[in-house]
Amino acid sequence: MRQHCAHARHVWNLAVEQHGHWKPGRKSAPGYLEQCRQLTAARREFGWLREGSQTVQQQALRDFDEAMRNFFAGTHRRPRWRKVGRSEGFRIVAVKADHVRRLNRRVAQVRVPKVGWVRFRLSRPVPAGVKSYRIALDSAGRWHIAFAAIPDPIPAPGTGGVVGIDRGVAVSAALSTGELLDVLRLSPGRRRRLLGLQRRLARAQRGSNRRARVKLAIAELRIREADARKDWCHKVSTDLARRFDVICVEDLKIANMTRSARGTIEAPGRNIQQKASLNREIAASGWGLLVRRLEQKARGRVEKVDPAFTSQRCSACGHVDRESRKSQARFRCTACGFTANADVNAACNIAVGHTVTARRGLAVVRPVNREPQLELLERA
Ligand SMILES: [Zn+2]
Repeated sequence: MRQHCAHARHVWNLAVEQHGHWKPGRKSAPGYLEQCRQLTAARREFGWLREGSQTVQQQALRDFDEAMRNFFAGTHRRPRWRKVGRSEGFRIVAVKADHVRRLNRRVAQVRVPKVGWVRFRLSRPVPAGVKSYRIALDSAGRWHIAFAAIPDPIPAPGTGGVVGIDRGVAVSAALSTGELLDVLRLSPGRRRRLLGLQRRLARAQRGSNRRARVKLAIAELRIREADARKDWCHKVSTDLARRFDVICVEDLKIANMTRSARGTIEAPGRNIQQKASLNREIAASGWGLLVRRLEQKARGRVEKVDPAFTSQRCSACGHVDRESRKSQARFRCTACGFTANADVNAACNIAVGHTVTARRGLAVVRPVNREPQLELLERA
């Protein structure tokens, strides 16, 4: 399976190279079909490539094709060179029904081309009628298998309920209902260990065994945290999709530009920079994942709102003043004296899609009935 990973990576990297040579005025780089023809020719010529699975290699080209289309659509960055040991994996398509077998309640096995039967532990039932799967090797050396199936979206409750979510630094997400949702993080002990390991990694010599050991230890800690975050995103998104008709979130593309100064209060001490960047990373990746899951589960019910001034605007009277946000945690309106948790106040603003001045000149189509939102404001 490592060889499958290597083949997929190699073919992908060749495709990246081909497209990297392109410059305005040159003939366009080969597309998927042309690349498949080239792959067939290359397999005829090179034995080590021929030994591998054609499906694995062809699917790497298909993945690349999709990555390029996403890049041209402006939703993703340009596909880049794949490195050994980082997001390794391959995809198998045209899976036959009898190529996935359940052995007992916990264990199943799958027939991987050129490898044979591979056992795996079931974390959930294999969906019926699977046509493809992806096998991946994570940086901590664990193998994963994922079967492709698009789950049915969760139906809206039909109550007209609207919720706003604000991502916080101290708290992972604040809802306009006043709920504060915190993602499970590494324990303080493990965090300290992670910082220590990162420092050791910086000192370790490149290519040394020590460096490899430290890297693996870091990967294990990070993966533990990532698993908890993924689990959290699944639970929260399912819960919100079931409870509310419309879910308002801040538009991250705009948020990146306007919100950089937020979350400045950090506990003083050593390694502030490192800790701050770690926090930021956690907050950012968790947020993106949560929004993606929401969009999948509450299809067509997620609204992206311009987040400008949501943290400075009073959700009770609409007054905008930087002074109202005195600290990281508390919001106190300088005009009407309304006080609230700062993140909850921002979430209420997001729920109404209000962004005051920044909205001027923007034609925003909001097909949603506004009444429940007003009611929500009064409650806040
Ligand atoms: Zn006010």
